[in-house]
Amino acid sequence: MSRPRHPDSYYDDIKRKFAEERDLRLSYRPEGTQQFTSEFDGELAKYGVDPYSGPVEPREAINDTVEVLFIGGGFSALLTSARLREKGVESIRIVERGADVGGTWYWNRYPGAACDVVSYDYLPLLDETGYVPKHHYSRAPEIFAYCQMIAKRYNLYDLAVFQTTVTSTVWNEGEQMWHIDTDRGDHMRARFVICANGTLSKPKLSRIAGMDTFKGHSFHTSRWDYEYTGANLEKLKDKVVGIIGTGATAVQAVPGLGENAKELYVFQRTPSSIDVRDDWPTDQEWAAKLKPGWQAKRRARALADPQLTDEQKARFAAETREEKIRRQERGNIDYMMRIHERIDATVKDKATADALKPWYMFMCKRPCFHNDYLPTFNLPSVHLVDTHGKGITQITEKGPVFDGKQYELDLLIYATGFEVQKTGIYNRIVGRGGVDLEDKYRDGIRTLLGIHTQGFPNLFIMGGYQASFQFNLTDMLQTQGDHIAACVDYVRSNGLKTIDPTSDAEEWWVNEVIMHRGKTGRNQECTPGYYNFEGESQRRQDGNYNGGFKQYFEHQGAVRARMRENFAFG
Ligand code: NDP
Repeated sequence: MSRPRHPDSYYDDIKRKFAEERDLRLSYRPEGTQQFTSEFDGELAKYGVDPYSGPVEPREAINDTVEVLFIGGGFSALLTSARLREKGVESIRIVERGADVGGTWYWNRYPGAACDVVSYDYLPLLDETGYVPKHHYSRAPEIFAYCQMIAKRYNLYDLAVFQTTVTSTVWNEGEQMWHIDTDRGDHMRARFVICANGTLSKPKLSRIAGMDTFKGHSFHTSRWDYEYTGANLEKLKDKVVGIIGTGATAVQAVPGLGENAKELYVFQRTPSSIDVRDDWPTDQEWAAKLKPGWQAKRRARALADPQLTDEQKARFAAETREEKIRRQERGNIDYMMRIHERIDATVKDKATADALKPWYMFMCKRPCFHNDYLPTFNLPSVHLVDTHGKGITQITEKGPVFDGKQYELDLLIYATGFEVQKTGIYNRIVGRGGVDLEDKYRDGIRTLLGIHTQGFPNLFIMGGYQASFQFNLTDMLQTQGDHIAACVDYVRSNGLKTIDPTSDAEEWWVNEVIMHRGKTGRNQECTPGYYNFEGESQRRQDGNYNGGFKQYFEHQGAVRARMRENFAFG
């Protein structure tokens, strides 16, 4: 049954409140993305250290040549490698900062870490590996182990180099090769380089006055110190713990912390929307009946047009653009109000319940799904410190201060997120004629499909800007991996050496991106967050391609159908 329609004024009032809450946050932080730092020097250096690996073992510097080199060893590299192997590429090297493959699933081992995309869609290569996930939503350790399984299956450990950070990637025109230097003194060469450094890989911290003076223990969620907390958080039973941030990571970590810490303070700036997490163990009978190619069929569905009845089609066709936007907007507001109702029904203390209510449009921030997060606030030892948009701006040697109150903590956890979709993180990329990619992008990102950028031959970018963005990121990465493998194969099988997009092709794509980004005022209307560059303006082409996932996929195919027009080959 559809819910009763509300009068226009109901939606207008809520939109007004959304705007007030957004403006409040923008007024606190006009500096936008500059409020964060991911350059961890001096006292902050400890936040970048890998707590999961042993000490870095000395090794000889590597000086050799491979055919394909991946910067980063997460899903981008793994699923693209599988496609490259299918095309007969033997010489593949992953260079990875962590001590193993896995990317985000190597780093994010905080308690409760899991993926809230359905596992049968999220985990790539299930047809190829024959693996069936254990649950509808996979937990982090299972996903990490699955990454290792893929790496073994495709012999990716043979040439892989871990605990190594690529520091520069420079094109050598004479050799038609990339020269890659690392922080371990390596000097490698590669015909093709694939930037697979992930969309959210470099942890960032809010710049908070006095944070370096805190005398207790502290770490970022992606560098969880189990030595301190105990494997099951048992060492926290006599500890007062604080967590800064209430995004998707904190939502998963807070229940375990609340259950185990002596006291837990959750410092909130903007609440997340928390919906039901409908999880279950995989039905083994269902799994046993899966036919070969079952995952490919699910993926094809993600790319298919929605199945509409004739009546629905007629109704949508009759709508004006404005009506369509209004209908979607109202649906989104109804959803957010259901999220509010769920909070009221779960959280006993009214003031806490009110403070946990998100006041922004659905999808302005990553929606979260959890069954234990909200009930955690009913525990007497768990305290929500709602800063109402302001955030923590001061930390002393004892802990955070808010509204003149000092919170004395033993442990402070930063759940403050990651640097977003930056190509060449930690790494300087220099293409033809000595052009630095950062300089090329200074007035705006320029790519073809978010994958190629002119003047940087044989370089491919995965998960970066100007590509489509999907709730299930691996769906998008899979299309990119397939496209890249096809391009590499084209070069190899035609006896060519290089592939570089033409300026026309690049110009066409930049314009496509701009055209679709300007379609709605959503970015400006949303509360600040990493989806909208914390409210910064003038970023019209520096975001994702908003023309739709299916269209993005079709554009990839169309570009490949006219290789000689879209690329210059050497
Ligand atoms: P986010 O960037 O989403 O969240 C950072 C949080 O820190 C926000 O709540 C932010 O508040 C808050 N914050 C920043 N500075 C301060 C401050 N000074 N005082 C108080 N609060 C502060 O990072 P996450 O690590 O939570 O998530 C990143 C992304 O990782 C997710 O969006 C999602 O894409 C992915 N992820 C996916 C999961 C999955 O299940 N698939 C699970 C976990 C993460 P504000 O909102 O006001 O900026």
